[in-house]
Amino acid sequence: MDKRIPIVAGNWKMNKTVGEAVELAGLLKQNLQDVKDREIVICPTYISIFAVKEVIKNSNVKLGAQNMYFEKSGAFTGEVSAFMLKNAGCDYVIIGHSERRQYFGETDEGINKKLHVANKEGLIPIVCIGETLTQREKNETFSVIEKQIKTGIAGLDAEQAKKLVVAYEPVWAIGTGKTATPQQAEEVHAFIRKLYSEIYGKDAAECVRILYGGSVKPNNISEIMKQPNIDGGLIGGASLKADDFIKLVRY
Ligand code: PEP
Repeated sequence: MDKRIPIVAGNWKMNKTVGEAVELAGLLKQNLQDVKDREIVICPTYISIFAVKEVIKNSNVKLGAQNMYFEKSGAFTGEVSAFMLKNAGCDYVIIGHSERRQYFGETDEGINKKLHVANKEGLIPIVCIGETLTQREKNETFSVIEKQIKTGIAGLDAEQAKKLVVAYEPVWAIGTGKTATPQQAEEVHAFIRKLYSEIYGKDAAECVRILYGGSVKPNNISEIMKQPNIDGGLIGGASLKADDFIKLVRY
């Protein structure tokens, strides 16, 4: 099969006004035009999505959202649907980020529901999984990951299973400055791919892209990306500065 194309995705979280988002997107578009061998994805807040799309259209910078709701439309105050995100120009959507799990009570069951709706609407889901520090210390990393995959990523058809993006983000490494060592990350990525193969078959497991996330910075990305089962990065803090994100894309 073709080599997996790496993805460098920026999760801007709840940062940047519309004006700031447009400015950052413009700088990325301008400075990354020549990049062809990897996918570049930026995920602004909902209110900046449309304006950012205008800036990056016809470029190699793709758009993602940070969350979605599983209903298409209706009386769901404050929510935004996958259908609307696709219509506004998104190609990707992050689902089940650990901050959503931690602060907004998202569960693997709810994440699975969103995953199927995202696929139906033509968005590529980036599903986040990862253990907390307590779970790692109790040697529960693999059982936690297994449950998150078996419940959260259940029920895909063959095509969907190939297209999906998984982001392994150990919760203890997000925004803390503590990165998993490349070996620690690779160990879990290899486990995810093996489990994925058992569920969805060898072809899907060879195609699924598994990103690492958790304090990825310009000075540690190249070691991380050398690992055979790491296919890119989901980046929070360091995606907010054009210079850093440009370096990350060019790892
Ligand atoms: C994230 O939010 O997905 C993330 C990995 O954040 P940071 O890079 O800041 O740790």
